[in-house]
Amino acid sequence: MIDLHVHTTASDGSLSLDALVKAAKKAGLKAIAVTDHDNIRSARLAAKTGGIEVIPGVELTVYDYPLHYLDIHVLGIFIDPENKALNSKLAKLEKEREAQKKATVKKLRELGYKITFAEVKKKARGVVGRPHIAMALAERYPKEFPSVSVVFEKLLARGRPAYLERKAGFGLGEAIALIHAAGGIAILAHPFVYPYRPEKLAADFRRLGGDALETHYDYIANRPERKTTRKENDALLARGISLAGELGLLQSGGSDFHGVNKGQALGGFGAPDALLERLRPARRKPL
Ligand code: AMP
Ligand code: ZN
Ligand code: FE
Ligand code: FE
Repeated sequence: MIDLHVHTTASDGSLSLDALVKAAKKAGLKAIAVTDHDNIRSARLAAKTGGIEVIPGVELTVYDYPLHYLDIHVLGIFIDPENKALNSKLAKLEKEREAQKKATVKKLRELGYKITFAEVKKKARGVVGRPHIAMALAERYPKEFPSVSVVFEKLLARGRPAYLERKAGFGLGEAIALIHAAGGIAILAHPFVYPYRPEKLAADFRRLGGDALETHYDYIANRPERKTTRKENDALLARGISLAGELGLLQSGGSDFHGVNKGQALGGFGAPDALLERLRPARRKPL
């Protein structure tokens, strides 16, 4: 089995890269892709780790205002972590991300929640994300927020009172082009979580040069608030596979493992090795 979507402490995962690789070996995985949100701090160390194949990757957050696709995730795997264009864009985005999280904390204070950015920052070991805000809130207000997921539902999910749109971000085409320029393969992550028609989104993704669809994904464990049933999840897998086939996209899959922070186990909802072998030839020469 392989797992092409995992997070580390460089974003909102709970395991460091070293711990993650140990856990992946123990789980018997042949390959994992390290795909932190909008940063490659762990990914740049990936090549140095022996034993199993550790593929450098990233999960880019797309805010495409012209196309009206907001908060779409595009995975890039086999990226060259030294790529200049990718690094300079990510550095810019990181500043913007921190500003957005500070503004979110300010908004929460206006709503009457006494949390500070310092508390949030303490929850993060890499870049800050909404899950860290949610953890800080759940710690301070355990009765109101028994879990991180409840914080999202009440306050932080898109459209909720403390949700702030990100100002800067990648266009969909820009994210794909940047991944390609860094030698990587662009994968549309968890296509069935967005408030956009998956068929249209995937077709646009393909039109803009995208390579693959994350067909093998566990919506049950990763998005408990949706209350997806096993049968529905099976149907989404089938729908993704046929959509990929229709559009000429490759397939990918992963657990979206975040450690104790949320969701599916490492290598859980395993994707077969064959998916990786079909993806591999789509790698490009870095520009
Ligand atoms: P950010 O990068 O700050 O927008 O935060 C993104 C992280 O929040 C990702 O790990 C998502 O999986 C997580 N997330 C987004 N929506 C939800 C939700 N409704 N429940 C739990 N986690 C979520
Ligand atoms: Zn995450
Ligand atoms: Fe994601
Ligand atoms: Fe993810």
